[in-house]
Amino acid sequence: MVDFLNLGKINNRFRNEIDNRIKTILDKGWYLQGEENEKFTSDFAKFCGCKYCVGVANGLDALNLIIRAYGFGVGDEIIVPANTYIASILAISQNGCTPVLVEPDINTYNINPDLIEEKITDKTKAIMVVHLYGQAVQMDKIWELAKKYNLKVIEDSAQAHGAMYNGRNTGNLGDASGFSFYPGKNLGCMGDGGCVTTNDENLYKKVKAIANYGSDKKYHHIYKGVNSRLDEIQAAVLDIKLKYLTKDNEKRREIAKYYRENIKNSKIILPKVYSEDAHVWHVFVVRTENRDKLQKYLKENDVQTLIHYPTPPHKQGAYSEWEKFSYPVCEEIHRTVLSLPISPVLTDDEIIKVVEVINKY
Ligand SMILES: *Cc1c(COP(=O)(O)O)cnc(C)c1O
Repeated sequence: MVDFLNLGKINNRFRNEIDNRIKTILDKGWYLQGEENEKFTSDFAKFCGCKYCVGVANGLDALNLIIRAYGFGVGDEIIVPANTYIASILAISQNGCTPVLVEPDINTYNINPDLIEEKITDKTKAIMVVHLYGQAVQMDKIWELAKKYNLKVIEDSAQAHGAMYNGRNTGNLGDASGFSFYPGKNLGCMGDGGCVTTNDENLYKKVKAIANYGSDKKYHHIYKGVNSRLDEIQAAVLDIKLKYLTKDNEKRREIAKYYRENIKNSKIILPKVYSEDAHVWHVFVVRTENRDKLQKYLKENDVQTLIHYPTPPHKQGAYSEWEKFSYPVCEEIHRTVLSLPISPVLTDDEIIKVVEVINKY
């Protein structure tokens, strides 16, 4: 079987380094808000090319905390792509804000920048972009609209660690960005983790305090905060894996290139890329008319696939109030997508096998 994503194999490459680092933490006996967190967040800010980074408990919290720290709440609207993982939208709802959904571009699967302006009202406070599947959103139009209407740009970078737009990294393309380090992401820890990156010192301080019981100094609480922190063990694991992220993303690009050049089947629509360094291939998504049939065929031929995602957020029970809304492009994407195996540990034989099997379909 060609595994979709073998996390054991991915982390085993760093077993000695991880073992040693965890031993050091055990020896020190310090588990939260310590040196590992300081080091990783500083290294990750550098990686993104921005000034500040706060470690938090997960990607959803990262987005939630950004919105809260900006002070957006009931009555405020935030623009978000209809075609995203539900977490982007939940972060908006959790703050009492209204998510305003915008259709994706059928070529990039990301938010369609040309459809944003018509959704802006005097209640709009921010545009949340999602670098979906690992491909950075083309930001020019979004920056232009943010300036024109005085809106914040929030990035959901959970799938796009290391992706670039015009030479700038995700995490440094908006006013603030949320990352997830869920195990399956391009940079993943051994449990839950996330962070916020920004160049805005005020936002940085506020997110950091809110995430730590609203405390700027020990036992001094200036916000009704929450507990959302990145622990020392996860920070250590991430700091080790960060050193290999660029190389791992390169490997993903090589596989994607091989798939794009060698998959030749008129029933299959391959992903489109506007620039090689824009995409870090968190997932390699193809589209086909009869998706379930293709998935079954691949399974019978020992190729494991997943669907990102089977049901759009506006058709989920959680948002039953949107049941009647129609986002045809988004729905078409959800109806036809299938994700092929891609990861830094796929072997050449496995990649060749995936292509051969698909070409015979
Ligand atoms: C994974 C993901 C999140 C949420 O991250 P968690 O760490 O699982 O909370 C948010 N947005 C997108 C697009 C994601 O893929």
